[in-house]
Amino acid sequence: MRIFLLEDDLAIGRALQTVLHNEGHEVTWLRLGGDAARLLGDTAFDVMLLDLGLPDCDGAALLRRLRAAGHTVPVLVITARDSLEDRLGGFDCGADDYMIKPFDIPELLARLKAIVRRASGRPDGADPVWKLGELALDLRRMSLTRAGQAVALSKTEFALLHKLLKCADRIVTRTELEDGVLPYSEGQTLDVHISNLRKKIGEGYILTVRGVGYMVRREPS
Ligand code: CA
Repeated sequence: MRIFLLEDDLAIGRALQTVLHNEGHEVTWLRLGGDAARLLGDTAFDVMLLDLGLPDCDGAALLRRLRAAGHTVPVLVITARDSLEDRLGGFDCGADDYMIKPFDIPELLARLKAIVRRASGRPDGADPVWKLGELALDLRRMSLTRAGQAVALSKTEFALLHKLLKCADRIVTRTELEDGVLPYSEGQTLDVHISNLRKKIGEGYILTVRGVGYMVRREPS
């Protein structure tokens, strides 16, 4: 995994970097929050480990800003604060999970794996099946099933759904879809493809964000 560690404490940061590196992960460690947004913009991380008490900013406020700016990287908050209010505040600001220092390394590793797996919507291992509600999109077989029944998709519909599933819980802009997926389309507009896709997979999966784009939610409405 590519891990972004934001932790000002030298001892904790060094220890985490060493442990994670030894587990085969690639760790980028920063001690100040000021550069976090730029780094997240430049590099695709699988997960971010975020200390809430940073010298130059409040970690929770930073995370809220990152979420507002559209950064969807899964975040595990690590903090010394242990009150219930702070725990809830951590989720409120957009954290995926929360650990109180000091914590056990095996538990940290297990939680990191769990939130990365959750975020990707993929099961463990090499099986490239994306699941959402009753849908299962199998990349290897280029097939989709809904509640176990095969659904025939065009190449473009498949690519659109794959892109939306990969980016679940964030808005995928029209431009992203038009540039990334439609070059392979059969000459129809994005909206026509989405409309056809909805008829095949059912309503409630793909949400329209008017004038901006489309998104799917991990928990379909
Ligand atoms: Ca700190």
